[in-house]
Amino acid sequence: MNHTFTIYGWGLAGCTLAWELWKQKVNFKVVYKNENHSSRVAAGLVNPIVFKRLTKSWQADVLLPFAKEFYEDKEELIGRKFLSNKPISRVFASIEEQNSWSSIHGDERFEKYISPITELKNQHIKTPFHVGKVESIGHLDVNLFLNESMRFLESQEIEFVQLENYNANDAEKAIYCEGADVLENKYFGYLPMRPTHGDVLIIRSENLQLDEIVNKNLFILPLGDNLFKVGATYNWKMKQPIPTQEGKNELIEKLEAFTTFEYEIVKHQAGLRPTVSDRRPLLGRHPKEENKFIFNGLGTKGVMIAPYYANQLCGHLLKGTAIDDEVNIERHLKHFNA
Ligand SMILES: Cc1cc2nc3c(=O)[nH]c(=O)nc-3n(C[C@H](O)[C@H](O)[C@H](O)COP(=O)(O)OP(=O)(O)OC[C@H]3O[C@@H](n4cnc5c(N)ncnc54)[C@H](O)[C@@H]3O)c2cc1C
Repeated sequence: MNHTFTIYGWGLAGCTLAWELWKQKVNFKVVYKNENHSSRVAAGLVNPIVFKRLTKSWQADVLLPFAKEFYEDKEELIGRKFLSNKPISRVFASIEEQNSWSSIHGDERFEKYISPITELKNQHIKTPFHVGKVESIGHLDVNLFLNESMRFLESQEIEFVQLENYNANDAEKAIYCEGADVLENKYFGYLPMRPTHGDVLIIRSENLQLDEIVNKNLFILPLGDNLFKVGATYNWKMKQPIPTQEGKNELIEKLEAFTTFEYEIVKHQAGLRPTVSDRRPLLGRHPKEENKFIFNGLGTKGVMIAPYYANQLCGHLLKGTAIDDEVNIERHLKHFNA
């Protein structure tokens, strides 16, 4: 079959773009690697609020409703649930934090996202200053979403080829969705990708009995069957996607500072978030190679960002519609010319 596009990479970027191309009935294939160091490690949380500063996350009012509709549409098509729709409870560390929350609660810009201060009914989590809840779509089961999307698209005759079995062709129209691996890409390696390493733990606890997502310096995400994901660290020095003892110690220390439950560590994972020097996604066409495109830079919030910008890039690829200046790789032209 003559494919119009080749997508390289099967993380959130490649997958959301594949859905957009499929919707437009475009011929494409996907070249993937069996390893993944971001999407499959991610907690998949969707939080429109930046807790540290109590501001809205970048473009949340646009990105969140778009993402919700996008994932719900795939749930319906595939017949599986990917979103948990659980609230995120922010545990306040002080009366000042509580007051700051109260002050934005009355603000109409935040009212659709946050609830009044309330109690968290869980004896194993210390909440002397109570919690504030964020109503969102909770979290995306990213692994399930990636696996089921591949299965569905394969059933629609979309070809998936492992990178090691693929002969790349310089003339093909390629869209590189390679996450932090873009640093090795011969066309786009010039872009200022600054990956952020993160450790997460999977723990088992019989007595925690928690059914919502809790956040205080770290998150506790219920996975079912008494398993919880706990994370994550942010390390700008570590360049390898391997678990670190330092990260593990940090997570244990933070967890035990505000909880009293017993647990065992079942797994320790780590990954590299594809973060960019200016913290914005990377979309667009190569400055010289007109058949080479990129979709990357999803950073720390890929679940919320990917659907909207996959849609925007798809419009650009098929109809030549504009890419927002803030995310267009043209802003990094000076690095290409350097
Ligand atoms: C610890 C941690 C926690 C996180 N938590 C959250 C969270 O709660 N919420 C959230 O929204 N985001 C979270 N993130 C960020 C999120 O994972 C990313 O924003 C997003 O998953 C990046 O997706 P991607 O497709 O760009 O990259 P990746 O997931 O890295 O996917 C790129 C894929 O391309 C493959 N590849 C590379 N080169 C090639 C090639 N030449 N050919 C074919 N394939 C190739 C790679 O092997 C990989 O599988 C977290 C990340 C980490 C590390």
